[in-house]
Amino acid sequence: MGKTNVPEIFGSMVFDDRVMRARLSAKDYNSLRKTIDENEKLDETVAEAVAKEMRDWAVEKGATHFTHWFQPLTGVTAEKHDSFITPSPDGGVIMEFSGKELIKGEPDASSFPSGGLRATFEARGYTAWDPTSYAFIKDHTLCIPTAFCSYSGDALDKKTPLLRSMEALDRQAKRILKLFGKEVKYVRTSVGPEQEYFLIDREMFEKRPDLVYTGRTLFGAMPPKGQELDDHYFGVIKPRVTAFMEDLNNELWKLGILAKTEHNEVAPAQHELAPIFSTTNVATDNNQLMMEIMQKVARKHGMVCLLHEKPFAGVNGSGKHNNWSMATDTGANLLSPGDTPYENAQFLLFLTAVIKAVDDYQDLLRLSVATAGNDHRLGANEAPPAIISVFLGDEISAVLEAIKTDSPYQGAEKVTMKLGVSTLPRFSRDTTDRNRTSPFAFTGNKFEFRSLGSSNSIACCNIMLNTAVAEILKQFADKLEGAKDFEGELHALIKETIAKHERILFNGNGYTDEWVKEATEVRGLSNLKTTVDAMPHLLDAKNKDILMAHKVFTESELNSRFEIMLENYCKTVNIEGLTMVDMVRKNYLPAIEGYLYDLAQTTSLMKSVSSNVKCNYEISTMERLSELTDYILERVKDLEKALEDLKGYDDILKTAEAIRDDVIPKMEHLRKHVDEAEMLTSEKYWPFPSYGKLLFSVY
Ligand code: ADP
Ligand code: MG
Repeated sequence: MGKTNVPEIFGSMVFDDRVMRARLSAKDYNSLRKTIDENEKLDETVAEAVAKEMRDWAVEKGATHFTHWFQPLTGVTAEKHDSFITPSPDGGVIMEFSGKELIKGEPDASSFPSGGLRATFEARGYTAWDPTSYAFIKDHTLCIPTAFCSYSGDALDKKTPLLRSMEALDRQAKRILKLFGKEVKYVRTSVGPEQEYFLIDREMFEKRPDLVYTGRTLFGAMPPKGQELDDHYFGVIKPRVTAFMEDLNNELWKLGILAKTEHNEVAPAQHELAPIFSTTNVATDNNQLMMEIMQKVARKHGMVCLLHEKPFAGVNGSGKHNNWSMATDTGANLLSPGDTPYENAQFLLFLTAVIKAVDDYQDLLRLSVATAGNDHRLGANEAPPAIISVFLGDEISAVLEAIKTDSPYQGAEKVTMKLGVSTLPRFSRDTTDRNRTSPFAFTGNKFEFRSLGSSNSIACCNIMLNTAVAEILKQFADKLEGAKDFEGELHALIKETIAKHERILFNGNGYTDEWVKEATEVRGLSNLKTTVDAMPHLLDAKNKDILMAHKVFTESELNSRFEIMLENYCKTVNIEGLTMVDMVRKNYLPAIEGYLYDLAQTTSLMKSVSSNVKCNYEISTMERLSELTDYILERVKDLEKALEDLKGYDDILKTAEAIRDDVIPKMEHLRKHVDEAEMLTSEKYWPFPSYGKLLFSVY
């Protein structure tokens, strides 16, 4: 890292605990801490004091503006900058920022998707400060993380339900801990998201309308080399990428983001960055920021960072791994096997709660990562399959099996499994046996949910995960509170839960056809292949029940999410379809025609010079290409019609189904012919950079 003093720059652009403690009075600081840690209502005078210190600090750091920074349902972040200036009587300005401005903002939000939640006459939503996520400075602007709601109180963003789901889990987990004699201030979920991305040359990027408009290539024949040599994974990082990563780390560290691990991924031009985990809502804010900064820094280095789930056919797409756990305010990880039998019993209760939650709410987890982009990974032949299952590893599996069957556990010592009494074995953390094909894997002291797409907001899956686990903890607490024989009932509950939910446990290879067959036909697990298949389950009674009972969503908020997610899917694919039509009509067909013209000219010229020439190459190429242009014309007309037909539906689900069943197959068909034509056409005539150029041009 050369001269960078990391501890010195780390968090230098964040109004974090260090700054608050140093700048606020002890009374104000303690009061704010209570709001942050224990959800206590914020005092107005404290808000005023915090605003003043924030402003002074931000102005010292060169900030001129402030913004409420929020996460509308578009999936990206939004900001609207206001400068601090207020006119002073002497004709100049002073820099002002009030407690009111800190706590509440009123962006004109009429153009954000609301899924019918906000009538147009009530366009303004409001933003409310989330004191649990620190304010920071970006581009000379003080950014205040906020929740975004309508005036009637409906959440219009992803942060609000995420915070509600964290509260739900906090409530229920504390009930369980109480049963084990533990009073804690709070239980929070923690997340470390590993982020995959591609880096390609900016000049190449700009020549491809498909990348510019949709973030992925809609055409492109495979180059002679893809990822088959596995020479990119963990390979030596190219100098230009190294320079990018250094710059990126610096920017992230300044923002207090714990960027930790970076390496090359499987596909050429693919990379990964993982931060150290933090509290879920902070991790979510940080991941949004990380994605934004990655794109900015890449541009500075003459590259473009692609966050699409499947930018290139034929090589791996990009995902995101959501490492998730629960911890108390004292830092005790609830998914960490303990040192004593009693602690192990508590661990096993939380573990089986997660297993049951994943089994009961497979569909919620699946739909929480469903987007048009991620459909290219899940349900296709890579990444985790669309079927959700849980990997535990051999050791924990053996422990659970022993409990289920009342048989001795063959660990280091042979013992009978009886929970809560001294015979429970000490099992160690099993971190060696990793199964990369599992969508939901226990990795020693946390679960890793691997189905997320690279561009997904991690808010969505954590909302579902937190709520599902909160629901199961609630059911467990309801059963165990007031139990006469706590240890006996605890043992019975864990045993029964394992027996009931073992169908979700799978340690084998999740990519095989046999697994799909077994999972769906024998075990009855759901296999929701596309966004269109998954999304309607959001409104299934069992799912609505828990999301509403734990006060994570209201019914109208759920309806709005259903609408918006499907709308997003339809718009995305529609833009892709239109881009294909555009490229084919304006570029591909004319380009092939140009080549055909030259081939025809050459052939007739050669034949006029000598009657002995056969022109086999020219004629056979011409014939096949001419045939292909006819196919391409037919297929592009098909696609145009399919896109036009979409306008006839006024129901969003019907539209989405038509896209899945009609538009997407036609896009694939069209692509096939264009890609074949690419292989037959002289490169000189081809209008766009090839896959080879896109994937291998960064050194
Ligand atoms: P890998 O999956 O490559 O083996 P690690 O297991 O070291 O890597 O960590 C992957 C991610 O999991 C990191 O972001 C790390 O901070 C995060 N992580 C580790 N412990 C926890 C935890 N208790 N809760 C949430 N995330 C965690
Ligand atoms: Mg991982």
